[in-house]
Amino acid sequence: MRMKKFEELQKLEKKMEADNSLPLKKTDTNLVFGVGDPEAKILFVGEGPGYWENLKKEPFVGNAGKFLDKLLESIEMKRDTVYITNVVHHRPPENRDPLPEEMSAYGKYLDKIIEIIDPEIIITLGRYSMGKFLPTAKISSAHGKLFRIKWKERDLFVIPMYHPAASLRNGNIMTQEKEDFLRLPEAIKKIEEIKKEIRAEKEKPEQMGLI
Ligand code: URA
Repeated sequence: MRMKKFEELQKLEKKMEADNSLPLKKTDTNLVFGVGDPEAKILFVGEGPGYWENLKKEPFVGNAGKFLDKLLESIEMKRDTVYITNVVHHRPPENRDPLPEEMSAYGKYLDKIIEIIDPEIIITLGRYSMGKFLPTAKISSAHGKLFRIKWKERDLFVIPMYHPAASLRNGNIMTQEKEDFLRLPEAIKKIEEIKKEIRAEKEKPEQMGLI
């Protein structure tokens, strides 16, 4: 099972590597596909690679990544037990925000990553990844909250978080994001309970059949 997801992700990465239609693919951009455990229950989705990510071909390894690591440490969540990717997988010029047409070009690959990993929870980092799943939500009111959504025929739990780079620019956001992360274990527990209830509900007719 583990190899299967790993291999599927590798295959997808190769396909993406060869896709010359991707709009942010340039001679000086590397593909920053994603990192972590292919069997992860939690998938983090950021915005797009910056300077260091492009250089190291790994998401969240610059200053924003260091802050993300601190947030994960604060709840004793190991980086290698989750999976981390972005809405666009090549560095936008001057780290500008990704354009809608870029997000849709990379979106089909992100959808495939989600399909392969099949996470229980998606934690979005910033407005752009939140917008993919919760198009009408506002980050100022949605941050840290748990959303249960139907997305492409899939039951998903989504928790939008501020982008770690926004926290580095604004102390109030940083305080808020630290608090949101500290509440994450509680939200994960709640999701487990909801999943247990869903499973119990599904098993009901069988039990009745036994009588
Ligand atoms: N910011 C992001 O959104 N993603 C990264 O990988 C790095 C910084």
